[in-house]
Amino acid sequence: MADLATLVTDIADRLMTRAERGRVADYIPELAKVSPGHFGMAVVTADGREFAAGDADTGFSIQSISKVFALVEASCRHGDAVWSMVGREPSGSAFNSIIQLELEAGRPRNPFINAGAIAVCDLIAQGQDSADAIAAILARVRALADDDSIDIDTSVAWSEAVTGFRNAALANYMRSFGVIAGPVDATLSVYFQQCAIAMSCRQLARAGRFLSLGGVDPGTGLPIISAERTRRINALMLTCGHYDASGDFAFRVGLPAKSGVGGGILAIAPGRASIAVWSPGLSAQGNSLLGTLALEELSQGMGWSVFNPDVD
Ligand code: GLN
Repeated sequence: MADLATLVTDIADRLMTRAERGRVADYIPELAKVSPGHFGMAVVTADGREFAAGDADTGFSIQSISKVFALVEASCRHGDAVWSMVGREPSGSAFNSIIQLELEAGRPRNPFINAGAIAVCDLIAQGQDSADAIAAILARVRALADDDSIDIDTSVAWSEAVTGFRNAALANYMRSFGVIAGPVDATLSVYFQQCAIAMSCRQLARAGRFLSLGGVDPGTGLPIISAERTRRINALMLTCGHYDASGDFAFRVGLPAKSGVGGGILAIAPGRASIAVWSPGLSAQGNSLLGTLALEELSQGMGWSVFNPDVD
């Protein structure tokens, strides 16, 4: 097995200068301004050691990675009621696809496609206004990362709100089936703002560490969510975290992980580490091209795929 510190540095050194980097998302105008030249990586081991390289301390838009934190928030508030609104099957469709919703009575396939995440936001907003709902999601992220400096990039949130016609279509369509209950505009405002949370790889890897520890807060030793719910979130990240490229990601990397169109990926090696990578250039399915490659190399080098027999 490779030495973790050396491997992280080696991967970053090679990928920082690689020519083929994918395409930066431009359907959210503010994201199109980010240079494709970035590459960052941070690994926080289950026992708290940190390894970082490249642009590991530069903030970026976490976009759909926020869907993991929103699911944690919704699970803490509503428990298994989440699963009466949202399914748990891979969609096999693009993250913002609308076609399945009509075929399946407005019920999103899973909480990590846009429709599912919008339904989760609606659930969090039940019984409170949208400002309190987004405040709760942000507070959750800050607590998980143990970092109150984490914030929403308001220009990204605004940019997405004024161009988010497809997300508005998804939300309205679900509202027509009663899958979401609250005012559509308020629900979308929570969704756009959670996607616009900005974090660095280091902050993100710290925030994900509890998922490598069976749901236990490494600071207090107390559960944030139960071990069973943690297993389920990891299972969903593995099967649904990369949209219509989830199978390919499991094949290549073999770790629960969630990507975002900002170019970040949060990956969990249960019992071993929480890993965050960032490179803004995307594959055709909207997942970080170099981020995926970095995780593939890291997982292979460390023997961390969840499908490996335990070698310790
Ligand atoms: N905010 C983005 C959207 O709704 C999130 C998509 C993503 O990261 N895949 O389109």
